[in-house]
Amino acid sequence: MSVLAVTDLKKRYGETEAVRGVSFTVAKGEIIGLLGPNGAGKTTTISMILGILEPSAGSITIDGHNVQTERTAALNATNFAAVYAQLPGNLTVEQNMNVFGRIYSVRNLRDRIEHVLKEMDLVRFRNTKAGVLSSGEQTRVALAKAFLNEPKLLLLDEPTASLDPSSAQLVREKIRTYAKNGGAVLWTSHNMHEVTEVCHRVLFVSHGAVLLEGDPRTLPGEYAKKDLEELFITVAREPLSLSE
Ligand code: ADP
Repeated sequence: MSVLAVTDLKKRYGETEAVRGVSFTVAKGEIIGLLGPNGAGKTTTISMILGILEPSAGSITIDGHNVQTERTAALNATNFAAVYAQLPGNLTVEQNMNVFGRIYSVRNLRDRIEHVLKEMDLVRFRNTKAGVLSSGEQTRVALAKAFLNEPKLLLLDEPTASLDPSSAQLVREKIRTYAKNGGAVLWTSHNMHEVTEVCHRVLFVSHGAVLLEGDPRTLPGEYAKKDLEELFITVAREPLSLSE
């Protein structure tokens, strides 16, 4: 069974059709890359999966629960990290973990906080206000928060965008381990080398629809492109040349 199943999802803002019938699944242990140029509809899709935006049509199930009709069960199995969803900067790292842990009703919260702080190499910052940390450290705090409730589905919007190469590698390793242990990941990134390395499968979104789908290591060759970056540029500039 899929951890995430998105079926014929649509979102309209007035005259703009931001998402036009998107369908895909993410299985246990899978890391899926959601790729596409600015304005393609990625954030709108993620916001609907998180229950922040109401779809105009279509359905989303997480761990077998419909996001619209069984919202609590669906969202309890989910978490996310995104640069635009910053944690309260006036709270310390540990206070943030406490607040979110309570919101998520995490059992044995104290132990769980110790675990995620260690995992994300944040123990030394536990009493530091989140707002004064570097952007890379704040990203690690956001990921620690995202792991708190041991989600079955993790949504990551450019999780390594502000990280130095060493921290980015640490984050990639943590996410890979999470997937190896059965977690499902939907990942957006503009770093095509990273996507090629980390993602099992990618979905290219263009103008609100999935244009291409496949293994990031073999997909470029199928369209006579040398790598994923070259394929991305074609998706962004000449999407019609790729549609069958
Ligand atoms: P991406 O995340 O791929 O950059 P978005 O999902 O943010 O794309 O946007 C998809 C399209 O929907 C864009 O054309 C954007 O301008 C439009 N859009 C996004 N949010 C709104 C909104 N609240 N109101 C009107 N249009 C929006």
